[in-house]
Amino acid sequence: MFHQRKINMRHVAIYIASMLFLVVLLPYVSIKLFPSLVEHEDGIAYKGEIPKTVKVYITEKKKYETIPFEKYVQGVTASEMPSAFEPEALKAQSVASRTYALGRINSGAKLCDTVHCQVYRSDNISAKVKDAVNETKGQVLLYDGKLASHALYFASSAGKTENSEEVFSGSFPYLVSVSSSYEPGATHKKEKQTMSISTFSSKIKEHMPELNFGKIKRSNIRIKSHSKGGRVKSIKVGQKIISGADVRSALGLYSARFKISFKGQKITITSSGSGHGVGMSQYGANGLAKKGKDYKEILTHYYKGTTVSK
Ligand SMILES: [Zn+2]
Repeated sequence: MFHQRKINMRHVAIYIASMLFLVVLLPYVSIKLFPSLVEHEDGIAYKGEIPKTVKVYITEKKKYETIPFEKYVQGVTASEMPSAFEPEALKAQSVASRTYALGRINSGAKLCDTVHCQVYRSDNISAKVKDAVNETKGQVLLYDGKLASHALYFASSAGKTENSEEVFSGSFPYLVSVSSSYEPGATHKKEKQTMSISTFSSKIKEHMPELNFGKIKRSNIRIKSHSKGGRVKSIKVGQKIISGADVRSALGLYSARFKISFKGQKITITSSGSGHGVGMSQYGANGLAKKGKDYKEILTHYYKGTTVSK
């Protein structure tokens, strides 16, 4: 009897301790152990957390190097935008690159020196680029007081940028279609590719072997819809409907803003602009700079509703 009672008392004690742990301690433990989950679900107010150094995977050396953060931003700005561009465009680029890098670091991703993240080279950094980066030192792009971590950019838009959700999977309030009509000196204004329909067919099938297109012929290749920025959103190819971005990567087009025309058994694809079309157009940034806009005006034009941190 006494023995039985002792066990019951122990059960009660264990029960109380368990409840205490669940109700009081566990939430605290979870938050302490997984701070990044909490941060990335809701986003947190930006308080100026710029790291002093970053670890970047240097492809050529096959190893990580620790680089002062602002030096990294210099190397990215110099690699991602021609140094001949206007100083205000280079400054806009440096803020976008700094923001994007910080977003990747915050999400726990590792940085590399290729287009996968941002191209980074430590050599050939002109004094003009160094000045542009120094003049925006530590500045990042914010939306609603939080880091606008998806500060994407691309070469040229040929008229309009895109809503992010029409090109990538996520939708972001600062990545919406805006005009970009002045892009002086932009390359790839009208890129033509002509090939036989059978070559077109094998390139598409090779790129998407999992899809059953059936016989692809002139009569069943048709653009179905366009995105807000004017790129091909969906296109019928054989028995399937695929995205313009799929065609872009299958054929290696500069952009998904393209038209198609036929002549006999040949197809011509004419694309304009270069890059995915989401965020800041670099040639457009240069155009706005030539018109006298400063880097903050350039950034807030392309990233709607954002502000530049102090
Ligand atoms: Zn990478």
